[in-house]
Amino acid sequence: MKDFNKLKEQCIREVTHLGIKLGYISSWEINTRAKTRWGLCKLNQDGSYSIEIASRLLEDERISENACKETIIHELLHTCKGCMRHTGKWKYYAEVVNQVYGYNIKRVTAGQEKGIENHESQEMAIKYIFTCGKCGATIYRKRDSKFTKNYRYYGCARCGACAWSKKTVG
Ligand SMILES: [Zn+2]
Ligand SMILES: [Zn+2]
Repeated sequence: MKDFNKLKEQCIREVTHLGIKLGYISSWEINTRAKTRWGLCKLNQDGSYSIEIASRLLEDERISENACKETIIHELLHTCKGCMRHTGKWKYYAEVVNQVYGYNIKRVTAGQEKGIENHESQEMAIKYIFTCGKCGATIYRKRDSKFTKNYRYYGCARCGACAWSKKTVG
């Protein structure tokens, strides 16, 4: 069983660290009946948000903590201003979070991608480590991407410097 509160706090910290402002979340619920969705974010009448996470995400040992956090962050981003849909700002924030932390937050995620069908693919080894030469921030990447090729042109989300150094480990 994963520690939901720990994961939740990590997610909130990671998102707000990037300067993304979350809405007020009045309740979190672990849904034991959810069969078809991993998470849900509802806007309440008073302007606060309620987030539901499927209990299966926490209970199923085949689902990694990261896969669980991807769902939590997906829902957290819905609480940002103008982010109830999976377009525009929501999509932009999801891309930023993915890029900085190496997540794979998407609009919809099939069971397969949560590692239920084939959990080996979730355990892919880290291939690169990037370190910011100015503030020491670290980014891990498991596969090649625009960032891993053009990292010299990317600014650090924490300090803004373009000072990444790359180390290939995998
Ligand atoms: Zn959504
Ligand atoms: Zn930095």
